[in-house]
Amino acid sequence: MLLQGRYDRFWTMNLTKNGNLLGDDPRLSPPSDAVLGLYAHVPFCAHKCHYCDFYSLVDQHDRIDQYSARLLEELSQIPAGTRFDTIFFGGGTPTMLPQQFWGTWRSILESQFELSADYEWTVEANPETITDELAHALVAAGVNRVSLGVQSFTSDSLQTLERRHRPESVPQAVDLLRSAGVDRLSLDLIFGVPGQDLHGVEHDVSEAMALQPDHLSVYGLIYEPNTALTKRRDLGLVQPCEQEFEAEAYELVVSRLKASGLHRYEVSNFALPGEHCRHNLKYWKNEPWWALGPSSSGQFSQARWKNQPRLEGYLSSSGWCPLESVEIRTVELHCAERFLLGLRLQEGLRLDELESLQAGPGTPRDAVIRMMVDRGLLDRGVERLTLTDQGFLLADQVIGELM
Ligand code: SF4
Repeated sequence: MLLQGRYDRFWTMNLTKNGNLLGDDPRLSPPSDAVLGLYAHVPFCAHKCHYCDFYSLVDQHDRIDQYSARLLEELSQIPAGTRFDTIFFGGGTPTMLPQQFWGTWRSILESQFELSADYEWTVEANPETITDELAHALVAAGVNRVSLGVQSFTSDSLQTLERRHRPESVPQAVDLLRSAGVDRLSLDLIFGVPGQDLHGVEHDVSEAMALQPDHLSVYGLIYEPNTALTKRRDLGLVQPCEQEFEAEAYELVVSRLKASGLHRYEVSNFALPGEHCRHNLKYWKNEPWWALGPSSSGQFSQARWKNQPRLEGYLSSSGWCPLESVEIRTVELHCAERFLLGLRLQEGLRLDELESLQAGPGTPRDAVIRMMVDRGLLDRGVERLTLTDQGFLLADQVIGELM
């Protein structure tokens, strides 16, 4: 697959051994001098899309109220005075939470923590979940960015992906959000859907741009293990697109978005100037964030934790979510991850960082870099090492060689 939309699967977790964590709980010692991101995972969906392997439940809706109360309780357990500048609600479908949740969350934030004046608060949403009332509740609580899971404006593609919404529900949702006062809008698209051709990709990008989002995330479809779509592929019921098509589709996306003023700042992410997702940049730039809710991951310094993934265990616990694992990253893992995440960014890696990433002169990594530069896949500029346009097309392979 050309593009990898998910990053956490590259993290090597030191799993718990006999139920005991291999490291201390990192949440006991948050960095005192940092302004953190805050991620909350909401594991409920109305319907399971066939390509999705995120932790989301479709048969537990009667527990949403209990979950909301538990999430608020977990938030209130973060040490008072902690400073945040980004908040991100992902899922799942966060907009399935009860409307009063958002105001209560804001009250706790304001009373216990320091929220930067220019904070970014993103909520992921499915178009069909947006109502006028909900949009106003989000804005009243202080949400200033919504990321809409559009995926396609073509009925056939939506059906293949087993998405529940219709193409026309996207502009309706955008109108409701804008009318309520949501400042910043991001749309997610997927290309490489079985049966899609370049005309379909062009159509999706055009429809998206007609809505004038300030941010687009565009991912190549991934056949994750154990998803319904992968099973359909294995049974011969759907035919994956050719690699060449995916490369052409990606080039088309990049050129169309560039012409519309959305610059690529990460392999799969495009934004108007200044409208990049600041929260996701924390992941890509190795900055610290706190994670709430089952199956989410957080990171402080060299320690990363993964919350245990089951709703049951979460609801029956109190305080911070029980941990599944803690990883204290080795130097080797840190270096590999910096190449993985740093090179996916348009700005790449600083040359003066390479020595500390075991890529100084004479090292095996340096030899790979030289080879990639010779092949026109990497550019070694005055200050930075970056993927070339050709390198972005083969980002997974180039970065894989360097990891
Ligand atoms: S709405 Fe999103 S999280 Fe829920 S099943 Fe579909 S892709 Fe997965």
